[in-house]
Amino acid sequence: MGVREGFEELYGAAPEGVWAAPGRVNLIGEYTDFNEGFVMPLALPHTAVAAVSRRDDGVLRLHSADIEGPVVELHLDALVPLTNTSWAAYPAGVVWALREAGHTSVTGADVHLASTVPTGAGLSSSAALEVVTALALNDLYELGLTRPELARLAQRAENDFVGVPCGIMDQTASACCTDGHALHLDCRDLSIRQVPFDLASHGLSLLVVDSRVKHALGDGEYAERREGCEEGARVLGVSHLRDVAYEGLDEALSRLSDERVRRYVRHVVSDDHRVERVIGLLDAGDVRAIGPVLTEGHASLRDDLRISCEELDLVVASANSAGALGARMTGGGFGGSAVVLVEVADVDTVTKAVEEAFAAAGYTAPRVFPAVPSAGARRVS
Ligand code: ADP
Ligand code: MG
Repeated sequence: MGVREGFEELYGAAPEGVWAAPGRVNLIGEYTDFNEGFVMPLALPHTAVAAVSRRDDGVLRLHSADIEGPVVELHLDALVPLTNTSWAAYPAGVVWALREAGHTSVTGADVHLASTVPTGAGLSSSAALEVVTALALNDLYELGLTRPELARLAQRAENDFVGVPCGIMDQTASACCTDGHALHLDCRDLSIRQVPFDLASHGLSLLVVDSRVKHALGDGEYAERREGCEEGARVLGVSHLRDVAYEGLDEALSRLSDERVRRYVRHVVSDDHRVERVIGLLDAGDVRAIGPVLTEGHASLRDDLRISCEELDLVVASANSAGALGARMTGGGFGGSAVVLVEVADVDTVTKAVEEAFAAAGYTAPRVFPAVPSAGARRVS
């Protein structure tokens, strides 16, 4: 049953409209966002789809086809940050953030949604949920907000209402990406540029390999990397590592006595540089040449930032041995997904090689699917 029919069955009337917002995968630029550097996500074909109608009585009703349980009913006056720990906090947080930003014309909604974005694989199922809600309310209540503004509100919902300290990349990707492009996002001034990334026309495919693992140490390790980067910026006398020029990296590293901080700085500054290299290659139409840059990025995440894990290292090694053009882990690390650039003709061979390597190591079978660079959030009907 589609979300339109599901909505009618739940709420007894047709929805005013249906919207979709995608998950994302980051091509290159990891742990660079909070250093005010560059990231380069692309939207996935997988989307959260929401059927929505307005209400004028201050009530928000939420339902997900993917979660067991009844409709969640909330009152807009009683939306309090950090108090709702269920999935409903994501869409509710968006309504809260809109009203906090002064959009008090938003007086309620009925929402029924379903999503094909895998959860917990580092593909931003949460941002998809937030952005689809934000776009639907923006359209229905004629708020006139731009895509980047919707992304900022969605981020605010996740940071301050749900309580997850995420950067701006996920929501910006879901709100602003376009078909056949990767999105260059400058995390300092939040400027964006669509970079051509039409894989199919080059006979290429970008595979996402969900390792199916999530090692528990993730959260503390993230905070530790962040603190180490801040320490590096302080010693180097810059506000953020974004300000350390790649050309001056060796000299900067020589001024850092702490071996750990030195590694973090080397990763961040070199990954910002890799984003620029990838953009140069894509602008020149030399898509295959980004493969080795991706693999270099993986080595940096594994050896300098030390956020990879055996499963992700195995994806990269087995894919590259089987003829992939390049591969890297993507996202926060310690599990989640990797991206693999591969000739369309080699997709089956490389997929099989990764699956066999996982089986031989005794790991859970990975989930592999193509990351076709897709459109950002949109109204469907
Ligand atoms: P990621 O964004 O990387 O997939 P998160 O932990 O940030 O992982 O977000 C996952 C959470 O988002 C889920 O635990 C759930 O609360 C919510 N979520 C995602 N998809 C759905 C869905 N289809 N229905 C209800 N909640 C969802
Ligand atoms: Mg998330």
